[in-house]
Amino acid sequence: MDLTEMEENFQKVPKRIGRLAELANNLWWSWDEEGRQVFRSLDYELWRASGHNPVKQLRDINPDKLDAASKDPAFLELYDSVMLKFDNYMSRQKNWCGKKAPNDFEGQIAYFSAEYAIHNSLPIYAGGLGVLAGDICKQSSDIGLPLVAVGFMYPQGYFRQHVSAEGWQEEVYSQLDFSEAPISPCAWPQGCGPLISVPLGDRQIFLQVWQVRVGRVNLYLLDTNISDNRPEDRGLSARLYTADQEERLRQLIVLGIGGVRTLRELHIKPVVWHANEDHTAFMMLERLREERAKGTPLKEAMEKVRKTSVFTTHTPVSAGQHIFPYQLMDRYSRNFWEPIEIDRESFLKLGDYDGLGPEKFSLTAFALRLAGQANAVSKLHGSVARKMWSVLYPGKPIEEIPILSITNGVHSPSWRAAEISELFEKQIENATSPSEYEEQFWKYATDIPDEQFWAVHQLMKNRLIRAIQDRAQLRLVRDGISTQQVLAMGALLDPYALTIAFTRRFTQYKRPYLILADSERLKKIVTDPLRPVQIIFGGKSHPADYASKQLLKIVYSVALDKRFQGRIVFVEDYDMNLARDLVRGVDVWLNTPRRLQEACGTSGMKASMNGVINLSVRDGWWDEAYNGLNGWAIDGSKGGDPEEEDKADAEALYSLLENNIVPLFYDRDRKGIPHRWIQVAKEAIKTINPVFNACRMMKEYVERMYIPAVLSETSNGHSLIEKENF
Ligand SMILES: *Cc1c(COP(=O)(O)O)cnc(C)c1O
Repeated sequence: MDLTEMEENFQKVPKRIGRLAELANNLWWSWDEEGRQVFRSLDYELWRASGHNPVKQLRDINPDKLDAASKDPAFLELYDSVMLKFDNYMSRQKNWCGKKAPNDFEGQIAYFSAEYAIHNSLPIYAGGLGVLAGDICKQSSDIGLPLVAVGFMYPQGYFRQHVSAEGWQEEVYSQLDFSEAPISPCAWPQGCGPLISVPLGDRQIFLQVWQVRVGRVNLYLLDTNISDNRPEDRGLSARLYTADQEERLRQLIVLGIGGVRTLRELHIKPVVWHANEDHTAFMMLERLREERAKGTPLKEAMEKVRKTSVFTTHTPVSAGQHIFPYQLMDRYSRNFWEPIEIDRESFLKLGDYDGLGPEKFSLTAFALRLAGQANAVSKLHGSVARKMWSVLYPGKPIEEIPILSITNGVHSPSWRAAEISELFEKQIENATSPSEYEEQFWKYATDIPDEQFWAVHQLMKNRLIRAIQDRAQLRLVRDGISTQQVLAMGALLDPYALTIAFTRRFTQYKRPYLILADSERLKKIVTDPLRPVQIIFGGKSHPADYASKQLLKIVYSVALDKRFQGRIVFVEDYDMNLARDLVRGVDVWLNTPRRLQEACGTSGMKASMNGVINLSVRDGWWDEAYNGLNGWAIDGSKGGDPEEEDKADAEALYSLLENNIVPLFYDRDRKGIPHRWIQVAKEAIKTINPVFNACRMMKEYVERMYIPAVLSETSNGHSLIEKENF
């Protein structure tokens, strides 16, 4: 379906506002406040009912409404100004974090990831890894970096979460209706699309490709659900993260190899290939095959692939990587090593290392061997990863292990509330405006009147509570859940109480139970009649992770417990929509990972950007962001065994709450403004915004990974990119 066909589909849209369909099909609107305003004002009820999905909205809208809009001067003014802004955005010069533009790459950066969180209308993500990939696409588009992204189209995506009255997670899978998703069939250069094929064991599997427009970045999604495939193969791309190991291996083969073949069919010639986590590592193998097919000698071919491959590792624990037994690899790997003309043993050795155990293939080890540039995702994670993988670099001192640290950042236009940005823009209206990526911009934080700051914060808090209560009400009306559950889901949330969020994927190492460790002490804190505290929990357990489901059940039983008077809450189905409201609308963002196990974490950055204050173990990004004034660090444990660590950290957490956080929050002036609290919030905004954003992150990827990769490829000394320009 190309643009004209798409327009035919939306024939009911009057000519005067005919480009609405085009706007709806480019997710740029989702991070542009005025872009969102177009659809919000077109039909507010449908906007809400569709879950902020303009594609669905345009499909379902009453033509009379469209007609009226096409004659409404106020709407037309907005429409015209947004279309102009969109056209300027799509064609504008490169914009390098508000500074000088980078020179062109001659070619593109291919970015591979198993999941992408771009917008809720495209549910192909599970958590932080997908959010990072989505933010990388958006930020690359913003700064004009020529990036092209590859992933999977999961028609059943990740699941939606319900929690039963007993506290068990129920996974609800539903088929995505493609007519209401912001995707179109891939526009192939040679017209009607070819079928991509990938050898999988004893047969070929065929793919079709979907295209998602993320501003100026194209995201291509592979889909195996076509009639040319056997029924068992058609479902391969149905769901994100199957629990079945063989199915997972098959998915990863299709993603890596099919992804490279797709880009070839699109005549895209990347100069850098970036693998996000080991899920995507097989792309390096396909590139090796291509080189060998051209007749390049093995050693040279390997070198070529290495020089132009970038690999980002995300897990600081061995259990986090993909490890496949040889027995399983043998079912598929002949298709790998035969065309490269190496033997089975040499191939399998690429995924082996001392201590891995017999007959196992580590995909992370393989990726580290085939990618010349590798990085971890925070400073602390870098030092952990260098130690962890020193086994692959015998004789090298730890500091010289070639795994750099590039700390994650978040796409601020997607995560920072427009209201917060407006506060700043108003403040610096007449100054020579620095860009939001410069420290100067945020220095103005101190000048914003506390009353205004608090009013915006309170507005967002009310909005969050409304959203949570809407969800609870919907479950009551639609599914008839019990009153007790409605209360556990947040029906009694109080917009004036100190509100703490703990929402993220439910896994053991993140220790959601930590703040629940001493129920008497906790009860005293939350039910204090003068200084009440409420805690909002949320997050999904991996469907195959029984231990994590039990954790969730424990938390849910606390939410159901009347002793806590409805002040401890579990919100179902944590997703991007809810995350956006939460990181803006609570007072404190709590994170309690077991130290050295959180590679980076990004939700705390989103919170700080909105003046929500972090209370976290010094792990991942917080270890480098915390400055003593911009939040709180839980510094309880001195190492030791996990039980002692839990105990010490819980003690530190309670004592911070009792002695610092609660008193500070309730220290008000006569108008009810907590000036000292706001000081901490402003300090967070000031110090986090200019550093932990995706623009700084992309700049580092370009300077430290992509440019070296490109330079190493240009043998004649002529650099495609002048380093000084960055
Ligand atoms: C930002 C985000 C995450 C990442 O959370 P961390 O706890 O920081 O790893 C996960 N899920 C969603 C929906 C998010 O928006």
